[in-house]
Amino acid sequence: MSAKLPEPVQNLIDAFNRLPGIGSKMAGRLTFHLLQKSEYDVNRFITALDGIRTGLQPCEQCGNISDQPLCGVCREPGRSADQICVVEGPLDVIALERTALYHGLYHVLGGVLSPMDGIGPDQLRIQLLQDRLNKRQEIAAHTELIMATNPSLEGEATANYLTQRFQPLVQEKLLTITRIARGLPMGSDIEYADPTTLARALEGRNNL
Ligand code: ZN
Repeated sequence: MSAKLPEPVQNLIDAFNRLPGIGSKMAGRLTFHLLQKSEYDVNRFITALDGIRTGLQPCEQCGNISDQPLCGVCREPGRSADQICVVEGPLDVIALERTALYHGLYHVLGGVLSPMDGIGPDQLRIQLLQDRLNKRQEIAAHTELIMATNPSLEGEATANYLTQRFQPLVQEKLLTITRIARGLPMGSDIEYADPTTLARALEGRNNL
């Protein structure tokens, strides 16, 4: 974009440009689109942006994004507590919910193990998962832990780490660990998978 643009216009273009998947051309188009909008529309945009700045927190139980202590899934009556699906991020929850096939709970790790980037177990919500499973153990309830990390090297390594870590519960027959698999190509992202493929992967999960 031209350096002769008024500063506020250039600032907005730059802000759009920093978003993933938005090049400078698209950033300019979005900015000029907003410039032509009514004040009402622009204010709605500002309010929406402001809304994600405050009042959002990770769900106390599962780590999913939420505007209340417990997220929408954890609050939903009728979800079966004996299934916990372990995912990397909130977008994976949305993708799995779209399949309309899964009625258990989730655990959102907040990433995957990646020693090269300094991300170890303590940087993810693994202790929170441990606490959840310990609580289930106290009431001797059987739980299925479904590993739905992405089919990437880090995603596999994270699923393997968790499987090892929770082996004592498996030995006690309090836990079954499964991995969604079929249909998801190596290196693909769960959040972008189409609902049919994801539903098939969920149905075809294997014991770990
Ligand atoms: Zn939750």
